[in-house]
Amino acid sequence: MNYLNHWLARPYQIERQINKWQKDKNNKDILDIDFVTQYVGLKAYGITVTNKAIPSDKKKKLLFSVPHAHEPAGTVACMNVINQLLTDQNLDGSQSDILDRHNILDNCVLSFIADANPDGRSRSPVDFWDGTKYTNDEFWTFMRGRDPETKKMWKRMGRWSIRNETPETIGIVYEQLSAHEYVEPNRDFESAFFRLVKIIWNKYGYGRWLDLHQTEFENSKYNAMIILPIVQNELPEHIQKANVEWANEIVKQWQKAGAEPMPESKPLGYTGEQGEYFRKTWREFMPMISEITTEVQNNNTRTHPNFQAELQEIAIKTSIYLLMGYTKNT
Ligand SMILES: [Zn+2]
Repeated sequence: MNYLNHWLARPYQIERQINKWQKDKNNKDILDIDFVTQYVGLKAYGITVTNKAIPSDKKKKLLFSVPHAHEPAGTVACMNVINQLLTDQNLDGSQSDILDRHNILDNCVLSFIADANPDGRSRSPVDFWDGTKYTNDEFWTFMRGRDPETKKMWKRMGRWSIRNETPETIGIVYEQLSAHEYVEPNRDFESAFFRLVKIIWNKYGYGRWLDLHQTEFENSKYNAMIILPIVQNELPEHIQKANVEWANEIVKQWQKAGAEPMPESKPLGYTGEQGEYFRKTWREFMPMISEITTEVQNNNTRTHPNFQAELQEIAIKTSIYLLMGYTKNT
């Protein structure tokens, strides 16, 4: 699968593909779409696939999400996996290798928030970050905005207002909330991300949540890793165990695909103010379910965008297979 030819990451591309799926009568009984509208008018979608003829109460329920606009490979992977679940084909029309999709649809509710911040994504200067066009220092000024004095990356904020802050440019990680307010999506319940999560959570509830991210892995020997929750060591033992088992399985599949993932997954290491943001926002969900985060290298020639998307797709499929009790011996 050449993802670059089917790189569905921009809001207009995602909307067009959702419309296409909705128009196909074959999808009527397996596709469910929810959305919230951002301040700027763009819609963030929750795309759920399951066999609707079978009641969902006994199904395994898994949520996939991509909160960050500067991390498009997770979006692209979500869109391709959804297409495989619906049509048994990749977006390029080639045969999917997905295992027993009818069994998956009968037994699982799979929800995808492929792009939680179309506002930010629509402001991205490029469709993907391959490390050939911008240095990481430049990339970070697009991500968080440019500091008027240092001309480097501006600061990381939860919710902030242009009435009090004056970055030279506004980073694409932020979502505009009002005439003057901005927010990093996974830091605040007013974001489209959390508003959408609440809607689909109330509808389906989830037993597992895979958050798809990317980071730069500067001066690292690794190009992928799984991060366990910041509260991992405070969780009930069975959830801690499930998180570790899940992380190890994805790492194993990444290694088979030729990536160099960090072998041992660790809890998110943020402390102080950054740590508090996460503890505050995630506390509501963390004790209830198993949740882990992927990080795939971004903006580096070592990890081509095709491989970025492939690694995210492997993480998604591995999560589904683990839930279904499949083992993939390839
Ligand atoms: Zn991220």
